[in-house]
Amino acid sequence: MTETKLFMDHFYILDDGRVRQFLIVGEDEALLIDTGFPDSHVYEAVQSITDLPVRVVLTHGDMDHAGGMKDFGKCRLHKADWQLIKDGAELEPLQEGDIFQCGEYCLETLEIPGHTYGSVAFFDREKKLLLPGDSVQKDGPIYMFGMHRNLDLYIESQRKLCAIADQVETIIPCHHDYPIGPEYIERNLEDAEALRRGELPGEKHPFMPCFSCKGKWTEFYYDK
Ligand SMILES: [Zn+2]
Repeated sequence: MTETKLFMDHFYILDDGRVRQFLIVGEDEALLIDTGFPDSHVYEAVQSITDLPVRVVLTHGDMDHAGGMKDFGKCRLHKADWQLIKDGAELEPLQEGDIFQCGEYCLETLEIPGHTYGSVAFFDREKKLLLPGDSVQKDGPIYMFGMHRNLDLYIESQRKLCAIADQVETIIPCHHDYPIGPEYIERNLEDAEALRRGELPGEKHPFMPCFSCKGKWTEFYYDK
């Protein structure tokens, strides 16, 4: 069951305890960021807040973010993640610099490949708000195992986010604690670099095909 909460003016957080989405309600349309698992019933949660037409954008194509897409029709998703989508919505491309204006919010798309090849963050410069999908998290785990992930690109993308960290006040990841501060960008980078150097001890995950590698600040599920 997805619960809804007004987090700040016209900005709702939808959360089923596993993954969260964001809904901005403007004057004549709403903007939804991510759609949850197929059984998160995000469409119903959105309907409980607004009956305005809803534009949908996705932070990336993993199933816990794209699972409810087909209920909404058209969705914007970075082309590098289209291969992850098996059925459902009509996809439209999303890329660096795409701007989504809704009410007093203005979200700019930043490509941050690594967690998936098509991962993006949405950044509101005026509100100093960053929605990084799964790519910045406190504690983790950040999934970095499987064919569609790339640790080197992840590290590059964290460096790109570090460059704007001084313009960020609030980060709302899709999993675990929120809000978190901009210091977590550098913290995740520090841990990812240690992982890359083979310095994080890994423990075999009890049921997933990966190792749990704990850094100083966050944890990665990694397979190399
Ligand atoms: Zn996720």
